[in-house]
Amino acid sequence: MILKERSKSISHRILEVLNNRMTLSANEKVQYANQIKGLKGEKMFDHILNETGIDALVINDLLLSTKDTSYQIDSLVITDEKIYLYEVKNYSGTFVYKDNGLYSTSGHAIQDPVAQAERKRSYLYNLLIQLDYSIDIEVYVVFINSNSYIYDLPKKDAILFAGQLAGHFKDLAEPLPKQSDKNLVLAKQLIKRHNDMYHPTNLPAYSFDQLRKGIRCSSCDSFSYNKSRQNIYCNVCGKKEPAAQAIHRSIEEFKLLFPETPLTKDIAYTWCGNEWKKSRIRKVLETHYRVHNRGRGSYYTDD
Ligand SMILES: [Zn+2]
Repeated sequence: MILKERSKSISHRILEVLNNRMTLSANEKVQYANQIKGLKGEKMFDHILNETGIDALVINDLLLSTKDTSYQIDSLVITDEKIYLYEVKNYSGTFVYKDNGLYSTSGHAIQDPVAQAERKRSYLYNLLIQLDYSIDIEVYVVFINSNSYIYDLPKKDAILFAGQLAGHFKDLAEPLPKQSDKNLVLAKQLIKRHNDMYHPTNLPAYSFDQLRKGIRCSSCDSFSYNKSRQNIYCNVCGKKEPAAQAIHRSIEEFKLLFPETPLTKDIAYTWCGNEWKKSRIRKVLETHYRVHNRGRGSYYTDD
């Protein structure tokens, strides 16, 4: 049973918006491309897991924070007896394993994924203790891309390649007795701790003034559209969308990028490209958010 579906990470969503509203540097473009690639790999993992039909609780993309750090778990598979933690890597190309680390053929060091996954295991273990649970956690690093090869990789039980994954899940599923979902309460507690507001620190720098304003097509990212009273029509792909929905979608982009900036009618008006009547913007704000300080100083929040 999938308790939490996979979705784009905050980094992915922010980079996607920035890529459309400013010019990313070459490095930032690589960072964005890696997010897309990572998600693609995780979806391949999900597909193989779903095909095996294992009777377990599945939580995807769990972002947990401790006092000192935040960590992202790609997938947790929870049975009555054990928790399996998966770190999915969509690396392509050739790598060499030496001195307990991975290196690309060009000599770049890559963080040791097994050590990285082990750290997440300790954090999770401590959290479980805090929640009064004592369950074994098994950790696996999955190299999901069949176009990757690692030389001199020591045989480690914690490493799985794409071709081994279906067999691995089958081995897990077959001896499992009928599951009681006794860990459902725990799973729900973990999901409740998912930190959706976490802003990674390694993102490109950006400011409101520098970003392109306007409403971006939800299908093709174009900023060019025609509007009728109720709808907008993309000039590039023809996508039709209710205007109120498109305005709301854009305001959500603003909130994603600027969680600390008070959301006011004027800022939403500017963000949407100065193309909509302020009364219309206000109506969307009033429909979706809670207003504080009516009048001149009013701003809107989720709660
Ligand atoms: Zn379009």
